[in-house]
Amino acid sequence: MSSIGDNLESVRSRIDAACARSGRDRSEVTLIAVSKTKPVSDIREAMSCGCDTFGENKVQELRDKTAEITEPLHWHMIGHLQVNKVKYLPGMVELIHSVDNEKLALEIEKQAAKHDMVMDVLCEVNMAGEDTKFGLVPEEVPEFVKYISDHPHLRVRGLMTIAPYTDDPETNRPYFKGLKDLMEQINLSRRETDKLDILSMGMTGDFEVAIEEGATMVRVGTGIFGERDYSI
Ligand SMILES: *Cc1c(COP(=O)(O)O)cnc(C)c1O
Repeated sequence: MSSIGDNLESVRSRIDAACARSGRDRSEVTLIAVSKTKPVSDIREAMSCGCDTFGENKVQELRDKTAEITEPLHWHMIGHLQVNKVKYLPGMVELIHSVDNEKLALEIEKQAAKHDMVMDVLCEVNMAGEDTKFGLVPEEVPEFVKYISDHPHLRVRGLMTIAPYTDDPETNRPYFKGLKDLMEQINLSRRETDKLDILSMGMTGDFEVAIEEGATMVRVGTGIFGERDYSI
């Protein structure tokens, strides 16, 4: 088997084990294969191993890859997003994970309206308060979620966080737990039909801990496709 196939098998069995450990149903967790910087041939290889959900962090790369790969796949925009690039996303991606300001939300609203559709989005939260990361501080999130909810072509589905890079995933456990607590707190004041139900958290270094703390989507790049080379 290819190394991508081997890697996928190993990531999947680690997801299974984390679900089993924490008493969660495996169907609650979606694996997003993060294919940024990787060639279409790698994506095709993952597809041949049963992968149908991919995450990218640049709009241009998404456009190129979705133009080349026309099979029906679930594409996710997981990276920081510039307002002027939003127009390409409706109809191309299933979920935008990285909404963290009103200007961006308004532009998604406008473009989704043009396409006569409702765009699913997550609110990005900077749980560790790192200066280098995008996302809202937790205290700002309830009001921002309310703001998004006031727009008819946006549907806020949940929260996303990028935890600090670490060699010890346990150090990120409080951030994952905090994101879940935040979602539950927000849900207290939402109608039954509008409850947030997506927690996008956990990457190659920490996805098992994230699942133990309630992740419903894990975004795994290196663990599936190997190290990225940004110099090319
Ligand atoms: C690159 C990226 C990932 C995947 O990171 P790995 O450590 O390679 O698994 C996940 N989420 C976001 C937002 C990313 O940009």
